[in-house]
Amino acid sequence: MKRMALCQVCGVELTEFFKKQETPDHEHVKFKYGLARFDFICDNCGRPVCWFSPIACCSIWSDMGGQPYYEWEDEFIGAEEVAVEEKPSESVLTLASVINTLATQIRENNEANGWEAGRNAGEVIALIHTELSEALENLRDGCPPDKHLPDYLGVEVEMADTIIRVLDMCADHGWDVGNALVDKVAFNKSRGYKHGGKKF
Ligand SMILES: [Zn+2]
Repeated sequence: MKRMALCQVCGVELTEFFKKQETPDHEHVKFKYGLARFDFICDNCGRPVCWFSPIACCSIWSDMGGQPYYEWEDEFIGAEEVAVEEKPSESVLTLASVINTLATQIRENNEANGWEAGRNAGEVIALIHTELSEALENLRDGCPPDKHLPDYLGVEVEMADTIIRVLDMCADHGWDVGNALVDKVAFNKSRGYKHGGKKF
């Protein structure tokens, strides 16, 4: 079996290419699409592919000898979406699945850094509060640039830290924050003026 981990451009191009090909019955091509689990080099064009960007994994095999197909794509793909022999489209990766994938990958990064699963929930919620307090302090200080990421305001980075901690906690507990977020945004849209006349 020939296996190729591809950047998005090559994924689309090769998908189109194989759609037009007349392949013998004993030859098979399978594409799987998703988000990259880490940085790698595209097997077709040699360009670097960044963690979390859309990618395609292409498998080519024959029934007439040689290695048969086996599942390998999840080494590279973090999101669970599968679109076998279909053109990749935005609908393949839903917003909810992108958020949940990001949460899973934040958890994996934290686990690799020694922050093991099963963290105390009360402690983690307290730490989420501290990120918001740091955002407030940044506003009180007149919104200086962030110390580590000077291209951003400190308050922007503290907000990002808040979201990172929230997503990490959801992944740790197996909570479906992606779909809850999408559905809650839709629900809030329908709640009317100040959510039924609340003062603030
Ligand atoms: Zn490429």
